[in-house]
Amino acid sequence: YTPFDVQAVRRDFPILQERVHGKPLIWFDNAATTHKPQAVIDRLAYFYAHENSNIHRAAHDLAARATDAYEAARDKVAKFIGAGASSEIIFVRGATEAINLVAKTWGVQNIGAGDEIVVSQLEHHANIVPWQQLAAQTGAKIRVIPVDDDGQILLDAYGSLLGERTKLVAIAQVSNALGTVTPVREIIAMAHRVGAKVLVDGAQSISHLKVDVRSLDADFFIFSGHKIYGPTGIGVVYGKAEILDAMPPWQGGGNMIADVTFERTLYQKAPNRFEAGTGNIADAVGLGAALDYVSRIGIEAIGRYEEALLGYATQALRAISGVRIIGTASEKASVLSFVLAGHTTEEVGRALNEEGIAVRSGHHCAQPILRRFGLETTVRPSLAFYNTCAEVDALVAVVKRLAARR
Ligand code: PMP
Repeated sequence: YTPFDVQAVRRDFPILQERVHGKPLIWFDNAATTHKPQAVIDRLAYFYAHENSNIHRAAHDLAARATDAYEAARDKVAKFIGAGASSEIIFVRGATEAINLVAKTWGVQNIGAGDEIVVSQLEHHANIVPWQQLAAQTGAKIRVIPVDDDGQILLDAYGSLLGERTKLVAIAQVSNALGTVTPVREIIAMAHRVGAKVLVDGAQSISHLKVDVRSLDADFFIFSGHKIYGPTGIGVVYGKAEILDAMPPWQGGGNMIADVTFERTLYQKAPNRFEAGTGNIADAVGLGAALDYVSRIGIEAIGRYEEALLGYATQALRAISGVRIIGTASEKASVLSFVLAGHTTEEVGRALNEEGIAVRSGHHCAQPILRRFGLETTVRPSLAFYNTCAEVDALVAVVKRLAARR
């Protein structure tokens, strides 16, 4: 099923013409980072050639251009995720900084000794470590939602973790290690019933699923630009207006102040209060261009194509003797994690790389979930809408060849 012309899409991504070890590059490391369409590369170049300035709108013409471009990008993000207002969008460096910002502002203000922070067993280290640090600082406790043998959230077990001590639930919408799509809508509704807030880690969902933060009723939603065909070094915190308004600032400096004397500082409103110093203006603008690009193709069309490709790849890999797929949830997005009997994951990764096929083999910054399955590492091909069945065939051929040499 092809809802768009994949070959035309591929021509939009110059890096897909690269050769590696004399072979055409096959990029199956999309969960780590995605490639950039020419439209994003051009937008960055245009910014530096025609608009580059710090963003003090009133200062001069280029400042107005840069400010307009930066704020237009904020509007695009707000629209893309269904936020109520662009002032609910804070630009940060990436998903990691986004979670740290929430932990060190909202978290410090709202979480105390004996309070509980609920995370799932699926989380990326970026959605574990900041909460652990907060817990160590405040005397709060971390509670963990277990998953079943398919890598799916156990909702009953989750329900029994919730109580009046629960202050926050921090949950990935899509697991970067297994590809599981988690039932965030139910998770949020259940958390709200006990008065807890929910942070959704959208680092892996943003490029695959239609996100609507208001319909989900997420309190925070965070993601990285580089995983949705945008630049590195730019990411997003969405927070509900009433939550951001009550949140203390994090870093102090320029941009985030309304007035400074040696005795005290008055802060700006959100989002500026959380954007101290000169931000990553160009890359925010680049992210806006990436969201425009994705919107032109349509996130639903992208999701349907990737689902079909994932199904094709899963069947082909499962048919190889010695392959064990980790993460067999009924709802998955774009990630295939596997091990091959008789071969280390490193060997598999190396054999693929020799054929120009890029996958990640390692712990994927999600050690707890791999250990849940008795593993330290897996091989993880992760798909995007510019990948093809022919590329999957190439990957499968290498794994088959290795499997035959057990
Ligand atoms: N959460 C998830 C689910 C991720 O997959 C990643 C990136 N692998 C992150 C958080 C962290 O993102 P970044 O490294 O861009 O800050």
